[in-house]
Amino acid sequence: MECIFCAIVAGKIPAAKVYENDHVFAFMDIAPANPGHLLIIPKEHYRNIFDMPAEVGSKIMEAAVPLAASIREALNPDGLNLFQSNEAAGFQTVFHFHLHLIPRWDGDPLRLPWKPSEGDIEEIGQIAAKIREVL
Ligand code: AMP
Ligand code: ZN
Repeated sequence: MECIFCAIVAGKIPAAKVYENDHVFAFMDIAPANPGHLLIIPKEHYRNIFDMPAEVGSKIMEAAVPLAASIREALNPDGLNLFQSNEAAGFQTVFHFHLHLIPRWDGDPLRLPWKPSEGDIEEIGQIAAKIREVL
C-alpha cells in the first residue's frame, strides 16, 4: 500500500495545504490536537529521523520557523509545540517523517507525556559519554 503522505504530496489524496517548496510540504493535520495543528514533511519519502539525511532535517526546520511565525500571527496562540515521533515506541503512526506544529493556549487540554522528576546525575553523565563515543 502506498504511503499516505506521499499520496498527499503527489496530489492523489486531498489535504489542506499551507505551504510547499522544492523540498517540503506543509498541511493541516486531519485530527488536530488543537486548532492550527499542522505537519511539515519532506517531499521525498523517509520513514523517520533515523532514515533521513541531516540536510533534509535542515529544510524541515527552515520551513518550521516562518510557519510558526505565521501560525502565531494568524491564530494568536499563547505558545506552540514542535513534536516529532519516531517508530511505534515513539508514538509514530504514519511512517513518513513529519514534524508537528501545535499551537498552544493557556488552559488547553494538552499535557506533557512524561512526569519530570530529577534524574541520577552520575547515570546521566555515563549516558552522555555513551552517546559521545559513537558520534
Ligand atoms: P504521528 O502519530 O506522529 O505519526 O502523526 C501522524 C499524524 O498524521 C496524526 O496526527 C494524524 O492525525 C495525521 N494524519 C493521518 N492521516 C492524515 C491525512 N490524510 N491528512 C492529514 N493528517 C493526517
Ligand atoms: Zn511517504
